[in-house]
Amino acid sequence: MRRLATTLTLGAALAGCDGETPINLFTIEDDISLGMELRDEINGDPATYPVVPEADAPDAYDHLYRMRDAILASGEVTHADDFDWEIYLIDDDETLNAFAGPGGYIWVYSGIMRYLEREDDLVGVLGHEIAHADRRHSTQQLSKVYGVSVLLGVIFGSDPGLIPELAAGLVSLSFSRTDEADADEHSVIYLCGTDYAANGAASFFEKLLEESTVEIPAFLSTHPASAERVADINTLTEELGCSTDPNPNVPPWADVLATLP
Ligand SMILES: [Zn+2]
Repeated sequence: MRRLATTLTLGAALAGCDGETPINLFTIEDDISLGMELRDEINGDPATYPVVPEADAPDAYDHLYRMRDAILASGEVTHADDFDWEIYLIDDDETLNAFAGPGGYIWVYSGIMRYLEREDDLVGVLGHEIAHADRRHSTQQLSKVYGVSVLLGVIFGSDPGLIPELAAGLVSLSFSRTDEADADEHSVIYLCGTDYAANGAASFFEKLLEESTVEIPAFLSTHPASAERVADINTLTEELGCSTDPNPNVPPWADVLATLP
């Protein structure tokens, strides 16, 4: 009885938590399990996601690892040591996108790399994606949807077969406006602790705003690039006293792009 009462109380709290401090009922291990399931799903579907094996583009992967590791070494990533932070390159020059799953799994399209003009800007996008995983936005959303079931252990306990089903849903999950703003903010916080320009994430949106002929990428389909988003990133960078100078210790961007398949 006591357990049921607790469940109902928390369930009520969940129902009323829109826009408030989000509750996450999943464990870090759940985030990792869901992320691995998602990874296997995506990497096992080359028709939709032409993921490049590391052996086919080792130099491109080395560059991506270098950027990722700089962010993880910033001291600002909460789960830097909890997740494996696997990163995958998708060979599709037409798609301006990058996305992250729970547990620190990240995919980057060659299209967004070729679209951006410097490494700092891609690191800004990576910071945004790392933030979605690090801030656990996916399982926060699942907590809202499945709240009471999670508390009763229904999801993973009685039916482990639900894990792949939940992971499949994550492929098409779009984040809320609040989560997008949170990821933008944390991209600045992470990059501020590196040698990269802290406002790198703003460049992608700025370039899209300037070039209205570009088709809106999936990355932005729900929350399009806006001048407000660019301004928020730049304001926070200034408030925190972070550098906007590009990292001088990186290879020319053209050399990085030359390693793409
Ligand atoms: Zn996002």
